[in-house]
Amino acid sequence: MSSDRPLPGGCLCGGVRFLATERPMGVVNCHCGQCRRFHGHFGAYITVPRDTVFFDADATLTWYRSSAIAERGFCGRCGSSLFWKGDGKATVDVAAGSLDQPTGLTTLRHIFASSKGDYYTIEDGLERFDGEAPEPP
Ligand SMILES: [Zn+2]
Ligand SMILES: [Zn+2]
Repeated sequence: MSSDRPLPGGCLCGGVRFLATERPMGVVNCHCGQCRRFHGHFGAYITVPRDTVFFDADATLTWYRSSAIAERGFCGRCGSSLFWKGDGKATVDVAAGSLDQPTGLTTLRHIFASSKGDYYTIEDGLERFDGEAPEPP
């Protein structure tokens, strides 16, 4: 598979369809309490520039201000959890599970691992941070 292939995705009902044209380094799993509630488990995200995500359909896209610093996007019809958007950031986090298969992506690391649910373990040997990952160099 070409590594420069764009990443199409969408929600369960098709009310939200998008194309992410810039491929990320990989997937980051966030175990914070907000992601766990929003996704029903940990959040698996790619991070891409906002201006590289193009919507084919967004009629049911709904934004919820989940904290003082961010909004979360979901489908108001089928309930799929889709996006995390930090205030003032040029990037948007896209739920990896919303991407069409195959993505060709791999999981890079875990963040907010110390906030993970007590009903599962993280044992894949990937990088693990108790808060956010350090900024890339
Ligand atoms: Zn939907
Ligand atoms: Zn999180």
